[in-house]
This record gives sequence, structure tokens and C-alpha cells, in this order.
Amino acid sequence: MEHRKIAVIGFPYDEQSSFMKGAAKGPQKMREAFHSESTNKWSERGLDLGDESVLFDAGDVSFSASGDVFREIEKAIGELLQKDFFLLSLGGDHSITYPIIRAFSERFPTLHVLQFDAHPDLYDELHGNRISHACPFARIMEEGCIERLVQVGVRTVNGHQREQAKRFGVEMYEMKDWNDDLTVSFDKPLYISFDVDVLDPAYAPGVSHYEPGGLTTRQAILIIQKIRAPKIVGADIVEFNPDRDPSGITAMACAKILKEIVARMVG
Ligand code: MN
Ligand code: MN
Repeated sequence: MEHRKIAVIGFPYDEQSSFMKGAAKGPQKMREAFHSESTNKWSERGLDLGDESVLFDAGDVSFSASGDVFREIEKAIGELLQKDFFLLSLGGDHSITYPIIRAFSERFPTLHVLQFDAHPDLYDELHGNRISHACPFARIMEEGCIERLVQVGVRTVNGHQREQAKRFGVEMYEMKDWNDDLTVSFDKPLYISFDVDVLDPAYAPGVSHYEPGGLTTRQAILIIQKIRAPKIVGADIVEFNPDRDPSGITAMACAKILKEIVARMVG
């Protein structure tokens, strides 16, 4: 089977987490779950991610103490995109999506983004911090990096973020209006940003912000399997906090989502 190879890259970074650290341990724990012998590497629709032609692991980016982290992230992503990879990033807190999308927008100027999240992440600033993990999509929309933002699973919208969503033209599928038949459609290259707290904490307790009333793992998988888009060029899985995941179930949920997203990126 001829297909494009997908690069995986990790960003062990949680300095912009507002409430609790731990997401920096995410990339390693997601890889361990993906390679766990308790399961296999096949997607549900029949892609074997264990086939060496499918995935290239570019490893984790280690950040220099004095360096500009966001610049380093943007550079690492830009280099992989130049090599013509589609790519999946493992976080890390959600702040990393801002520099990642900046790099993607260079190559895909009409990018559409599907964000899975309990939170809109549209704060203009949080506690005076404009690059907090609560702000990435405000920065992305302000800079005009993308053409369209669709959010699924949100259930923490306050007045400010409602205004921000309106100002930026963000489309929201909120949990309060949940419909099991949801199919999201795009007509431009698509990037998927998957914040693990979109899942109900009953299914994925390994996150820093518990927000009950979320998606089941199955509902999230079905949305991914049903997405309509010409191509899915990039994705991230962020906000997994291994410190809150003693049983390892959230790591396995991440590995499952990883397999289903990569299967859609491959074609
Ligand atoms: Mn988020
Ligand atoms: Mn979130």
C-alpha cells in the first residue's frame, strides 16, 4: 500500500499550565502505552501502525534553559513539514499548539482546525499571561493563522470566551447541545488538536482540569472516524497528565486516539 509516512514528535513542556504541572511527562507515557504489549497497533478500520512504512518517530524536542521555547517548537515543526511529512505532535500543555499552528500556516495558508476540548482556550490572557494554555486559540485567530476553527466538546464557556468566539467566528459544538450523529465537514487541509480533557474524566482521569459531562472515548473515536476533509495534514494530543493517571487508562485512551487519528491522516 502506497501512503504518506507520518512523523511523530514530542514536546515535553508544561510551563504554561495554569493550575497543575505534569503534562510534560505526556509524550513518554503515550509512547509507552502505544507500544504496550497489552494491545496491538491496528486501527479499528484496518491500518497496522506497527508497519514501519507508516510512522517515523522524530523523538522528543529537548528545550534549552535559555532558549525561546515557542520558537524552538515552530522550528522543529517547520523542518518536518519541509521534509513533506504530515505530523502528529504529543504534548505537553495546550500552549504548544500556537507555535505548531504558526509553522503549519506557513505551509498550509488555508488551514482548517478541529479542536477537541472541554475548554475553548480563547482567553485574551489568563492571570496576565497571554501565552497560557488557556489562550492558544485567541493568538491563532488574532494572527489569522487559520481560516476556520471548529470546537467540539466544550462545556466551560464563560462570558468573555463567548465574546471571543463571536469576535473570531469560532464554530462551537457544545456538550449542552450534544448530538450522537455529529459529523464535522471541512473543505480545506485539516489539523486536529485533541485536548484529552474533552473526554469525560470518568474515561480519562489523567488530566489537570477535571470537567465532568464530557465525551465518552467511543464518541470521540466516532467523530474522528466520520470527519470529512480532503486531507488531514497534522494533529496534536495535549494535556495528558500522567501524575493523575495511576491506572494508566488515560495513557491507553491517548494511544487509542493516536491510532485512530493517524489512520485518518494516512488516508
Ligand atoms: Mn485546551
Ligand atoms: Mn482543556
